[in-house]
Amino acid sequence: MVKITGFATHDVRFPTSLTGDGTDAMNTDCDYSSAYVTLFTDSDLVGHGMTFTIGRGNDIVCTAIQEVSKRLVDKDVDELFLDMGKTWDYLMADPQLRWIGPEKGVIHIATGAVNNALWDMYARSRKKPLWKLIADFTPEELVRSATFRYISDVITKEEAIALVTAKQAGKAEREKTVREIGYPAYVTSAGWLGYSDEKIAQLTNEAVAGGFNHFKMKVGANQADDIRRGKLIRSIIDDPQYLPAGASQRDPYGEALKGKNAGPTGAVLMIDANQVWDVDQAIDYVKGLSEIKPWFIEEPTAPDDILGHAAIRKALKPHGIGVATGEHAHNRMVFKQFLQADAIDVAQIDSCRLAGVTEVLSVLLMAAKFGVLVCPHAGGVGLCEYVIHLSLIDYICISGSMERNVLEYVDHLHEHFVNPCSINAQGRYNVPVNPDEGYSIEMHKESIATYEWPNGSYWASRNAGN
Ligand SMILES: [Mg+2]
Repeated sequence: MVKITGFATHDVRFPTSLTGDGTDAMNTDCDYSSAYVTLFTDSDLVGHGMTFTIGRGNDIVCTAIQEVSKRLVDKDVDELFLDMGKTWDYLMADPQLRWIGPEKGVIHIATGAVNNALWDMYARSRKKPLWKLIADFTPEELVRSATFRYISDVITKEEAIALVTAKQAGKAEREKTVREIGYPAYVTSAGWLGYSDEKIAQLTNEAVAGGFNHFKMKVGANQADDIRRGKLIRSIIDDPQYLPAGASQRDPYGEALKGKNAGPTGAVLMIDANQVWDVDQAIDYVKGLSEIKPWFIEEPTAPDDILGHAAIRKALKPHGIGVATGEHAHNRMVFKQFLQADAIDVAQIDSCRLAGVTEVLSVLLMAAKFGVLVCPHAGGVGLCEYVIHLSLIDYICISGSMERNVLEYVDHLHEHFVNPCSINAQGRYNVPVNPDEGYSIEMHKESIATYEWPNGSYWASRNAGN
């Protein structure tokens, strides 16, 4: 019997605001941060987890993580692993902590870090990367790992089991395929608002040469600038001369690109406003960007405004532009209503805005039932490491869909992880294969020692004016 004996949290902040990385119309000054937790046991087994923030407030999340983690101390890990849905319900059910949510805000993202740490521990204990642990579950085991509280009006456990069972045929083949070719990714880092046109052109060229064919640009600060930057990106991604040697052009009218406004080389452009507009403003502004032919507008307005997103989607549909959101959708009920209201074309789950793998599974099951594509949010720090696991679970076990999906990729800060994610020459995520990497989120001890706020060596030196 192995018991959880304690935990440690670390407030780790990277000084990304110095370079303009991560800048968009809403978030202008980001220090990408990790509220990081390690769960310890009375054996060698540990579990690492984190949630992402963009700087100030990361300490508040760490405090909340400590409160949630206390609920696990003295628990038998195999009892926790036996029914991860029940374990999740238990984590959520603190009669006092619940008041500062429920299921939203700081307490929810803190619970996400803890739930993810427990899943990391579970995968390590079985000597499998997390995606493989879950891919090897029976349909009953997978569905038992999700939570159905408050969503059983749109999907019951029985329906979910039927959905996953129907995907059993072909599962082994899908796993083999994705191990060979990788999972499709897209690039965001060419189009941050803080970058000059020269830097955007250079980064776009590099991304095309790296095999990518989906690109995202931040918009919303100035429409004329957005059109200029969008045309600049399209002039590169639509021109066959920039394709890497040996790359074949993709059929813009093929199944994978249908409805995505792909250009002549099969390249797709997406735009992201990070919540800056009111509903009518969003509609007017995005109509004005039609000439750069985006597939979708991401986060056009407040993340909680489900009917607002539905109105935007309806108004933009005649212009061939879809709507995507989810990185700030704070729980499965918000996704339930986006789906019920026909408000989104793409569900952008976040690995630690939702309260961990368990709640993510619930959203993957609902999205599959509604036939809505899941393209997880990533970037920041640690998110790319997490989400490749989630997209693999979605493809292999739940939706069976991959070539229409794309997983966000940003080439930042991966060097701080013991098992960093990686991209192949075709611009696709490699499948994590190390049996000891769990959920791939373990951070190097030196990185924590350097960037822990405020006394890590980097911050101590900077705060001393050196
Ligand atoms: Mg975004």
